[in-house]
Amino acid sequence: MIQRTLPILTFAVLATMVACDKAPDGTDAIQAQAADYILRNGSIATVNNTLDTVTAVAIVNGRIQAVGNDEQVSERAGPETKIIDLDGKVVIPGIVDSHIHALGYGLHISQHVMFSTGEQLTVQDMLDGIEARAKQVEAGQWIYVRGPYSLDFVDERRLPNRKELDVVAPLNPVFINMQGHVGVVNSAAIDLSGVTKDTPDPENGIYVHDPETGELEGTMYEFPAFTPFLRHLPPYSFDVRVNAAREADKVFSRLGITTVVNLWAEPENLAVLQHLEGLNELTVRWSMVYRLAPEVFKGRSASEIEDLFKEYGLPDESDSNWVTVNGVKIIYDGFAEAAYMNDEYLEDRFGEGWKGVAFWDKESMQAVMEVCAANDIQVFVHVAGDRALDDVLETMGAVNDKYKLAGRRWTLEHASTEPTEDNLRQVKELELLVSTQQAMGWSIGKTFKETWGEERGSTFAPNRSWLDALGHPYVKAGSDNRPIDPFIGFWSFVVREDVDGRIGRPDQILAREDVLRMYTANGTYGIFTEDKWGTIEVGKFADMVILSDDIFNVPAAQIRSIQPVMTIVNGEIVYRH
Ligand SMILES: [Zn+2]
Repeated sequence: MIQRTLPILTFAVLATMVACDKAPDGTDAIQAQAADYILRNGSIATVNNTLDTVTAVAIVNGRIQAVGNDEQVSERAGPETKIIDLDGKVVIPGIVDSHIHALGYGLHISQHVMFSTGEQLTVQDMLDGIEARAKQVEAGQWIYVRGPYSLDFVDERRLPNRKELDVVAPLNPVFINMQGHVGVVNSAAIDLSGVTKDTPDPENGIYVHDPETGELEGTMYEFPAFTPFLRHLPPYSFDVRVNAAREADKVFSRLGITTVVNLWAEPENLAVLQHLEGLNELTVRWSMVYRLAPEVFKGRSASEIEDLFKEYGLPDESDSNWVTVNGVKIIYDGFAEAAYMNDEYLEDRFGEGWKGVAFWDKESMQAVMEVCAANDIQVFVHVAGDRALDDVLETMGAVNDKYKLAGRRWTLEHASTEPTEDNLRQVKELELLVSTQQAMGWSIGKTFKETWGEERGSTFAPNRSWLDALGHPYVKAGSDNRPIDPFIGFWSFVVREDVDGRIGRPDQILAREDVLRMYTANGTYGIFTEDKWGTIEVGKFADMVILSDDIFNVPAAQIRSIQPVMTIVNGEIVYRH
């Protein structure tokens, strides 16, 4: 009796489940086999269009074979199927970090002295760390230091200075890079660089001088000032970069991140990732967005830009599901210290009337954007200040007159200041995406208030304004490495606290369901892979994370300490606590 009814039941369940699921490519092939894995007895947030929660999911050949209740999904079990009892735990789709410096992060943790940790530090802690490295390396070797996320993490609210660095590392050039916007070097580095007290400031960069003697203090602001120093750092070998990507992948998997969109990628690193893809070693899907250096691209003709893009291998025609080049990044303005604003900064560190900097002129930016539009290359623009937002939208509007931008999913990175009604209308008309990294409201929040002023600083990342106006899937979430941990990021979106626990603009707080969509489905929409992964639906690649705690129901303060207990990518377990 039982033996006769079972197959019929199985067939009935299968038929209904296939019928109610849209079936992307590959679904038919995966329905005939027994599952590799079944996860059951859980609370699985599918993040499908109706935000359904199910208790079970079956995986076969890297793809999701079935979702539903335990009874339905158990029908997919065969003798070899591994059953994972979730014991009521919450499962979410794999996390997409839509703005990260992923290979850079691998280099930071494997090669650099690393203070971007979220730990509270003193100047002495940093000097001790640099001194320890100086003792390990040979005289003359560069010591590259990743500074803290911001001075909010330093008791004295400053970085070590040139003289202090000279004491702990007299024989080694030292470069402290705080998030690409503030730098400090010692005397050995200054001697090598050729920069002297008489060197004029580069365009959009500043060297700080002792007000009395005029000597270089070793402190500098914005990337153009860094260039003469960075030029002397020896390039990393292929093997070192491969290892850095491996180390980064390990951390990402431990944190539940399954896709990274690299917002400062370099063409020479594509081969690094492709090498690991060839070895079948990647545990994270890497999307590359190449940074366009303004000094290379400004003032170029369309055909020159096209030639440069060809050298970069753009547009990318590959159909890899692991390593793709999505497009290019234009960094239009500065950030906490130099976002381009309509109104003056609170701080006059850079002189009276400081309103930040724009690294591009609008004509050059438009020329690049038009070549991108003509060649179907996706554009991601770093835009932090309100003046920058006005400028970028004006430029995109001009491009839109020749090439319709709707549907191209061009993206505003950061979009950190309150949008005006005009801004919102333009962003909707151009169908732009907004990529937001709220954790910086925690890790740099105090600095924003000090430099931008209380109101603009508290408004940093006006997420509710963007989401209310644009809706899903047009707003997506990332880390910008400050910090990488997506659960600190998630927490930050729903509490908006700075390091002192002060809440900036509580009206901009988001609901947890919205944040989850931004970290998953919306992230894949941003790179045109929403049909392949980003939700837990039949036929999609099986990327998912089992969480230690119920992210929807724990008190908000606890979200930041949630940890993945298991991360699955492409149907394989890549991390297990
Ligand atoms: Zn960034």
